Amino acid sequence: MSRFLIEDYQGLEAYTPGEQPRDMQYIKLNTNESPYPPSAGVLNALSSEEVSRLNLYPDPECKELKDALATLYGVGRENVFLSNGSDDILNFSFMAFCGKQTPVKFPEISYGFYKVYAELYGVDYTAIPLREDFSIDIRDYMGNDANVVIANPNAPTGIALSRDEIEQIVKANPDYLVLIDEAYVDFGGESAVVLTKQYDNLLVVGTYSKSRSMAGARLGFAFGNREIIADLEKIKFSTNPYNINRLTLLAGKAAVKDNDYYMENCKEVIKTREFTVKELRKLGFTATDSKANFIFAKSDSVSGETLYLELKKRGILVRHFSSPKICEYNRITVGTREQMQALVDAVADILKQGE
Ligand code: PMP
Repeated sequence: MSRFLIEDYQGLEAYTPGEQPRDMQYIKLNTNESPYPPSAGVLNALSSEEVSRLNLYPDPECKELKDALATLYGVGRENVFLSNGSDDILNFSFMAFCGKQTPVKFPEISYGFYKVYAELYGVDYTAIPLREDFSIDIRDYMGNDANVVIANPNAPTGIALSRDEIEQIVKANPDYLVLIDEAYVDFGGESAVVLTKQYDNLLVVGTYSKSRSMAGARLGFAFGNREIIADLEKIKFSTNPYNINRLTLLAGKAAVKDNDYYMENCKEVIKTREFTVKELRKLGFTATDSKANFIFAKSDSVSGETLYLELKKRGILVRHFSSPKICEYNRITVGTREQMQALVDAVADILKQGE
């Protein structure tokens, strides 16, 4: 820490992203990326003459991409916000809508960044425990006394709430913003986007990083009432108006055109997830009912940490969290069928060695 860092940030504990190792080629099942490449349309768009226009700034209003997404999701352009990954949108949302007088609630076991943003902005937050089975009890979010942030499906559990349950939360908090983080919704969840037309206190956040194979391009989107979106635009234009680069804008547009390709990939991921869960259960694992592109599972015979380390030795990277309530589990991204077969084989080998 330098002597210049102001006091507000001196105690801040930053988010730790999953490992992105460069030392060797792993089967990378640790950061919920898609195992499939971007669509042909995206690749073509990027090799076009747009690259030669990098001397020019991109459109700060992202009009064309907003229109494409608005059409795909059946909302108006004024209901769409875009930014540099959905982390950026979460950041702006905490900055814009949470504060000393406006606390926030989120599940205790959820995306670790919510707590970091709350601390970054000095927001009074409550991390609400999950039920024993890792499900969210929606009654915990009915108080109308704080903003609500929920990942749906939740991470790292993969467990989803229904749209009806989300609606109950939104209805019960008319004076507060409810932010639903739908990073993983395309793998079997029910999106709440349609509810943004009906409720002015709902913001639904999505990302191109998972189902749309563009984690490296950094593109996130959000849908909500026009005033909420205008607030987010105000924050964006007060910080970094060109925060989506030309190439990403173009890739994002092409990906909307190729939506069918991505939805087919999601179906494949769902099939592979179910296959892997079945195989792991045969090996004595407990796994949640994940509706995401990852599995959250623990072995009945080897600790979460040992499994993580042993898999890493065998060239397979999964995500292990050390917090006590979930340290026996690992979050395993669903890769291709071949990758998951390799995972299952490695797990079987590790269990055999432990006998
Ligand atoms: N929300 C959740 C629940 C996530 O797991 C992630 C990925 N780490 C994000 C948001 C952020 O994704 P991105 O910034 O790549 O859009």
